[in-house]
Amino acid sequence: MISHIRESGAGSGAQRCPGSLALVPRLSEVIAALENLWPAERAESWDAVGTVVGDPDQGVSRVLFAVDPVQEIVDEAVKLGADLLVTHHPLYLRGTTTVAASTFKGRVVHTLIKNDIALHVAHTNADTADPGVSDALAGALDLRVVRPLVPDPTDPEGRRGLGRICELDHPLTLRELAARAAERLPATAQGIRVAGDPEATVRTVAVSGGSGDSLFDDVRAAGVDAFLTADLRHHPASEAVAHSPLALLDAAHWATEWPWCELAAAQLDEISDRNGWDLRVHVSKTVTDPWTAHAASALTDTSGAPN
Ligand SMILES: [Zn+2]
Repeated sequence: MISHIRESGAGSGAQRCPGSLALVPRLSEVIAALENLWPAERAESWDAVGTVVGDPDQGVSRVLFAVDPVQEIVDEAVKLGADLLVTHHPLYLRGTTTVAASTFKGRVVHTLIKNDIALHVAHTNADTADPGVSDALAGALDLRVVRPLVPDPTDPEGRRGLGRICELDHPLTLRELAARAAERLPATAQGIRVAGDPEATVRTVAVSGGSGDSLFDDVRAAGVDAFLTADLRHHPASEAVAHSPLALLDAAHWATEWPWCELAAAQLDEISDRNGWDLRVHVSKTVTDPWTAHAASALTDTSGAPN
């Protein structure tokens, strides 16, 4: 890759890169493009999205997308020479009174500022976007999106909203669908947990990237065969399978949201090309799921089939 010398100076607008026709956009221009994809006002009221760190006038040549704004990812951004880190999860969800480097989030802020790296967050505004987090999850599993699971009432076209109802091109058994999810989603210690008859036929699936157990009522109302999400807790999962033949697939939270990074990076890449920007867009492959190991129980097949 060619390295570029960034032009600096006052004023707004992208600067032409020396010896090149491509333009180095300012952070404010890149953020405006991201805000166009995931407007902050579409985030949940409890959420904390938008730009966390960054000078609007700084030039941006290299962007890294990741799920979590943790130190490991920020160190990766430094090593890559990124000017902007875009994450799905917020750094500070509830506000803070300190960014002292003795706290782990403060250390993240210090590393970002010392290295001239901006941080921008697109969280629930990316969940409900069209395309959004669950479209990326469905795409990773080759599922055809039919409609949102919980449509956004402010979208007249009915395309935005939480989760997606999807169809399979060819019916699969639950066992086969779980195997596909395990193969197509990035590898984690957890893998895929399954509830239901492994030989049950699955034609329709609801998917929701991230924690999905608040959506059980909507999933049941949709009448789908299976629900793929993350962070399913004992009681909601237990009640869901007791009251309907709904099959459950529970993946690692990080793994269900990571496909969005690739989608978002492709969207920004396309915007960069359209604007004639000289932007290099990367996706972190670092697994930041907090669970790092899995010890299978002695009984590995609980389906009742003889081993
Ligand atoms: Zn999440």
